[in-house]
Amino acid sequence: MSENQRRVYPLAGDGEGAPASSESGVIRRRDFIRTGASGLAGAALAAAGCSRTSENQNAGPLGNLRSATPAELQGLVGDGRRRRIVLRGGVVLTLDARLGDFEKADVLIDGKTIAEIAPNISASDAEIVDCSGTIVMPGFVTTHHHMYETLQRSMIPDGLLQGAWPQESYNSVVQNIWTAGRIADPQNPSSFVWDLGRSPYDPEDCYISELVACLSEISEGITTGVDTSQSSHTPEHTDAMIKGLMDSGRRMVYAYTGGIDRSAQGIPYEFPGAMNDTSKGIGRIAKTYFSSKDQLVTLGFGGGPGVAAPGSDYTGWQLARAFGGSLHNHNVGGAAVVINAAADPRNGSDWSDVTFIHCTRWQDQPIAQISYGSHGYPKENRSKAWEIWRDRGAHVSIANLIEMQMRHGMPPFQEALDHGILPSLSPDVDTNMTTDPFSLMLSLMRGAFCLQRALANDLAFPESNPGGLPVPQLLTSRQVIEMATIAGAASTRLLDKIGTLVPGKEADIIVLDARSINTWPINNVPGTIVTMLNPRHVRDVLIAGKVVFWKGKLVGWNVDALLGQIEQARDRLLARINGPAKAGSLPAGNNSMTNPYRANFLGSCCEKGQNTSAPAYVLRP
Ligand SMILES: [Zn+2]
Repeated sequence: MSENQRRVYPLAGDGEGAPASSESGVIRRRDFIRTGASGLAGAALAAAGCSRTSENQNAGPLGNLRSATPAELQGLVGDGRRRRIVLRGGVVLTLDARLGDFEKADVLIDGKTIAEIAPNISASDAEIVDCSGTIVMPGFVTTHHHMYETLQRSMIPDGLLQGAWPQESYNSVVQNIWTAGRIADPQNPSSFVWDLGRSPYDPEDCYISELVACLSEISEGITTGVDTSQSSHTPEHTDAMIKGLMDSGRRMVYAYTGGIDRSAQGIPYEFPGAMNDTSKGIGRIAKTYFSSKDQLVTLGFGGGPGVAAPGSDYTGWQLARAFGGSLHNHNVGGAAVVINAAADPRNGSDWSDVTFIHCTRWQDQPIAQISYGSHGYPKENRSKAWEIWRDRGAHVSIANLIEMQMRHGMPPFQEALDHGILPSLSPDVDTNMTTDPFSLMLSLMRGAFCLQRALANDLAFPESNPGGLPVPQLLTSRQVIEMATIAGAASTRLLDKIGTLVPGKEADIIVLDARSINTWPINNVPGTIVTMLNPRHVRDVLIAGKVVFWKGKLVGWNVDALLGQIEQARDRLLARINGPAKAGSLPAGNNSMTNPYRANFLGSCCEKGQNTSAPAYVLRP
């Protein structure tokens, strides 16, 4: 699209105060230049001290965000050309049943793909990377993340999903103020007490948020994600988000979703597009960006199993499938959506390209969420929706931290397990929680592990189990790792390329440094990953054979400039929110600062009005 080519990213504030990359803690690709037979380790150390700023550094659309020029990236280790790398002597967790795992082995990477996994590979023409003391495993895959919100990180850490302004919630703060730029009148939802006349986001703000989100997750070992941004306010917003994903070098599904439709005000709006139409919506982006399957960013779609748009005679799923997109739908308490989708023959019967996100509260009748199988208390536990999901081969993405924190309902691990479905995991929204796959007590893997076990373990005590339910089988560390790798790869339809380490698959690999003061010695490998490690132990990350994170640093990125850019984007949004409105003015919230509005910085975002029936806690230390 010529329109897209006109866009230049990033825009405002470029190039000021960015320190040299060695000071900003980033390894430049030039550090990988092989200086001779001594190989990579010596070269990286030798080059680390000479990270001069190239005269060409600010050329090109990425401006000063890159710490090395494209020319400097040629001929380096893992640049995607036909170069070979051996990851030598780590514990290798392939997660492949036939190949098995290795207490100590080498992984030979040839260009984009894994060539061989075995002990003591001899490859004299390859770069050798010493992996002793590490765990080498597939990169993590998460399956649902609203990446345009990364500039709103921890905006409402105490907030719930629902709640109308002046209560501060995800709906009122993140969706209404920061995304839509308007707040509806509770008495008359079609009119607005405050309306900016536009989203506070410009396309460039979406771009930097998506880019930082991707690089952040690369640094945490999550090599693949699904962007479900719900921020396609105009075609240019959509283009900017896709560009942010593509520029990051991360493997992604872009799950195209709607935004705020202001076409009545003359602002162009194209979601969802139409069948056989490549001039707008999904057809336009499929043609413009996703004509090849052999690329890191692929197409998904957020439209559902009902009619694609008012008046159309096909469903959202049919529309996505016509353009080769996988399906990624939110479903919070919507068992009826599943049942209705199954009743509509247009949606087919093979749902292996469908992932539903959350899948909470799908039980047929009110029942406590500690039940399992057909057992339940106080009633029988059955779910038509889960049975349909199992029978049609569909996938489940559980955002366990967010569901627990924001009142989506109990994360449905037990229901998924009881129906033979290995769910994948998703971080959902940075406004409320980290994307970190392992750290903190309630992180994705650890949270999934502990939640299922907590509920099941509580049934072991008669005083907690008056109905006498049998105790479900407990999740293992290894099963949780499979949720964070294999299940995500299946959900994104990438299991033939990633998710396990097998010769012929693409080399999306993480090297976890387990030889550290707070993790060593390893006595059990899956347990070390799930119960011991955190992102600081992510040492190296490769995506399609390319080294994108090396010795704890992003490769080729100026992190300080990225942080400056995302901070400036946040400030631009805040200035617009506080600027002239098309209608009304922003009323004071229960907890935020007003005149000018900004989020509560030091106190709680959301303490007043969340629960009007229970008294506040009066606590003593
Ligand atoms: Zn979501």
